[in-house]
Amino acid sequence: MNIRRKLSLQFAAIVSTILVCFSLVIYVSYERSRRNDFYNRLEERAVLTASIITDVVDKHRDLIRRIDTTSSTLYREQVMIFDRNGNLVYNDRAEDRQITGNLAKKIFSSNRILLELPYGYEGIGIEYGNKTYSYAVVVSALDYHGKNRLSNLKLSLFISTILGILFSFLGGWYFARKSLMPMSQVVSRVNLITENNLNERLDEGNGHDEISELSSTFNRMLERLELAFTLQKSFVSHASHEFRTPLTIMLSEIEMMMINHSNNEELQQMLRSVKEEILSLNNLSTKLLSLAKTNLDFSNSTTSGIRIDELIMSAISDFSKANPTCKINLEFSDLPENQEFLVVEGEEQLLKTAFINLISNAFKFSNDSAVFITVGFSNARTIFISFKDNGVGIPPEEVDNIFEPFYRISTSNKVEGHGLGLALTSRIISLHKGTIRVRSKVGQGSEFTVMLPTATRR
Ligand code: ADP
Repeated sequence: MNIRRKLSLQFAAIVSTILVCFSLVIYVSYERSRRNDFYNRLEERAVLTASIITDVVDKHRDLIRRIDTTSSTLYREQVMIFDRNGNLVYNDRAEDRQITGNLAKKIFSSNRILLELPYGYEGIGIEYGNKTYSYAVVVSALDYHGKNRLSNLKLSLFISTILGILFSFLGGWYFARKSLMPMSQVVSRVNLITENNLNERLDEGNGHDEISELSSTFNRMLERLELAFTLQKSFVSHASHEFRTPLTIMLSEIEMMMINHSNNEELQQMLRSVKEEILSLNNLSTKLLSLAKTNLDFSNSTTSGIRIDELIMSAISDFSKANPTCKINLEFSDLPENQEFLVVEGEEQLLKTAFINLISNAFKFSNDSAVFITVGFSNARTIFISFKDNGVGIPPEEVDNIFEPFYRISTSNKVEGHGLGLALTSRIISLHKGTIRVRSKVGQGSEFTVMLPTATRR
């Protein structure tokens, strides 16, 4: 359960508990006051009726009963009077409310009894009289209006409690969202920060609340991360740069030795092999340097509009010069009439390096040394360039790893390489806001497709 839902539920639970307690207190105190009030009225009635009936001569009793019944203010009132022996001496209504002589005896012993009778009737029994005579008077009636008001109150309390709970939940939901909004903003900003934009910082707001504290803690952490990343990248860049100078010197000295000892075949063989190793090391340090450079300072490098068709032809020509045995097939499909759509904003040398890496891989890992390149254009103003070969292919479980630096498929060990080409290529493509996709089948070949947004789309 997320914090927002938890906060809303907790808020609603607190408000509901308060509302329910309030409603119960109101209901119970209203019911008690109704009952007290009703019993008081019943008692007054009992005293009044008893005083009239017991004080008046017996022969007028019927007349008094009629006057009494018609003047009654209580709903379905019944007055019953018992003597000390429990005999009924007066009853103004012929209704059985389970009031018996035994009850009368109890009244004499306890003076005043409150009665809960069947069908919602309530009654009171009091002892009335003096030393010479005394009677038990029981008055019962239905508190019709009082009970009606009570049930109306119950309904109103129930509806207002439900509405209160609902509104408190909605209110809680709204306020929780409002209070957590800055937190969500921090989360979405942090999600946008990757190793490529560690220089970004979060907004620290007013600097007084917990969210500002969180943002500032993140910012301090980003500063430390950025420093560590920069140190690491500049180390790789410096180290590979430092390698290159002695390697170049060694290379030229070996070439000099080869010229000077051209007739010593054994030595020539050895020097050729050393030269190959040095070239390979040189190649490695060049790639490491490029990788470190693309990580370090692409943001500072100057970009320009590049015609992709021209760039690909230039990459092919450079590669073919160094590898004359390579057969490259270039095809253009669905190119736009507007040539501006073939322009990509970027750094020419880097893009060329990426294309040459892909051509080189297709050449290295194919059986017939043939590379098929297709340049096309999609409606989404995206240029795609695919590099296809009929080579060894890549096992599906390895496809995700080949873009990691120094990763090589174990079967590729016989082929020269250091596992840096694709890491560098994918980095270059992502710097140009493009993507790279691989489709491959072992034994049948691979196809790497680069997609780049055209300059007009950006
Ligand atoms: P390198 O080619 O120097 O080994 P890369 O980073 O260019 O390094 O490639 C990494 C690995 O991906 C290669 O070693 C190889 O195993 C695999 N690979 C790349 N391109 C292809 C391809 N066209 N066909 C088959 N395997 C490939």
